[in-house]
Amino acid sequence: MQHRIIVLGAGYAGATAAGRLAKRLRREDVAITLVNAEPDFVERVRMHQLATGQNLRSRPFSEMFAGTGVEPKLAKVTGIDVDRRTVAVTDAAGARQELAYDTLVYALGSGWNTHGVPGTTEHAHEIAGRPGALRLSERLARLEAGRPVVVVGGGLTGLEAATEIAEARPDLDVALAARGALGDWLSPKGRLHLRKVCAGLGITVHEDTAVTRVDADHVTTSAGASIPAEVTVWTTGFAVHPIARATALEVTGTGQIVVDGAMRSVSHPDVYAIGDAAMVMGPGDRPLRMSCASGIPTAWQAADGIAARLTGTKPPHTPLRYFNQCISLGRKEGLIQYVSADDRAVRAALTGRLAALYKELVCKGAAWGVANPTFGLPTRRRRVVRAGPQELSAVNAEA
Ligand SMILES: Cc1cc2nc3c(=O)[nH]c(=O)nc-3n(C[C@H](O)[C@H](O)[C@H](O)COP(=O)(O)OP(=O)(O)OC[C@H]3O[C@@H](n4cnc5c(N)ncnc54)[C@H](O)[C@@H]3O)c2cc1C
Repeated sequence: MQHRIIVLGAGYAGATAAGRLAKRLRREDVAITLVNAEPDFVERVRMHQLATGQNLRSRPFSEMFAGTGVEPKLAKVTGIDVDRRTVAVTDAAGARQELAYDTLVYALGSGWNTHGVPGTTEHAHEIAGRPGALRLSERLARLEAGRPVVVVGGGLTGLEAATEIAEARPDLDVALAARGALGDWLSPKGRLHLRKVCAGLGITVHEDTAVTRVDADHVTTSAGASIPAEVTVWTTGFAVHPIARATALEVTGTGQIVVDGAMRSVSHPDVYAIGDAAMVMGPGDRPLRMSCASGIPTAWQAADGIAARLTGTKPPHTPLRYFNQCISLGRKEGLIQYVSADDRAVRAALTGRLAALYKELVCKGAAWGVANPTFGLPTRRRRVVRAGPQELSAVNAEA
């Protein structure tokens, strides 16, 4: 009997985990199904590029996983019953189906976070996913010269969006609204560089500015000021999809699944959660930031942990830590802010064209790594010694 592993979500985390499991386990022992709502891999880290009309390389899952043992399934996940160990999905033709699992890997990622600010859903654009980025691209293409665009959010996504738009459309009047000072978490060198690039691109920076309302042609700040905005791009963080919250899984107040160091749900040990969907404590007892930089290592951890559990071997120890924050500032400029293990900026930062090139290589490398999740590692496929849900329950009880 094959052990049924279902991976939900084929973003950076889910696709990596599925591919790595397939390299670790013998095909005759496991059935690995990778469920995703779209037929191809979406490079979320390039959504600001898509929004400015750049073409992204197509990466169909049918090609990416051909011959690997991973079976991609094009379907939308609508619910999970963690007691019955089933997932409800709707396929592309609208047919509903129930899939049974022995081990579940939850990696449905996240979308934009409006924080409930009035007017956001009606008037703001977002770039947290492909549909939003494509809508913004169409809107920007129709926008006449001189019209105002406001990017709300001074975090990594907001910086990348504002600089990309300003570089691609120097004829527009681009502004950035940041809750604090511009790049206030960066090193002095990083902050200075950011200011220089924003000034060079003609971006008006509104610092210490919280936007409290979005209307069709302007945004309103907490100080009561009005900033003209024919297009508002909302980038104030990510929110997870509501599916996990509707299950019996233990989740945080924000709906992320609470996991242990092996990415195993603390309430349901046959469920693993990775990527943006998981609440993982990292170095310095700080939750990992929603990012590829966190999501990919959590996928390695989960896949290696599952493989070790099923094959009765010791899981390798992969310490989670950060090295840098890679920020594109348009296509010609970048900023690589080196950080401590717990993601705090240190003095060193790389800037300029070299940083832009570095960031491009990181993006390419992340997508390549998804398709080659065990590159450089021994990939001996091991035999499953504990297949079937009953045996697994016994293993879980031991854990
Ligand atoms: C513009 C932008 C720039 C970014 N830049 C960086 C960066 O430079 N560095 C960095 O580390 N991070 C960056 N991030 C963050 C990073 O993209 C995310 O943290 C990362 O994609 C999370 O990976 P994931 O696998 O958890 O989720 P995702 O990549 O979101 O993948 C989730 C998958 O699940 C699928 N899915 C969702 N719901 C369903 C459903 N109901 N049914 C079926 N399938 C479903 C989606 O289609 C998707 O394929 C950026 C994000 C954005 C938007």
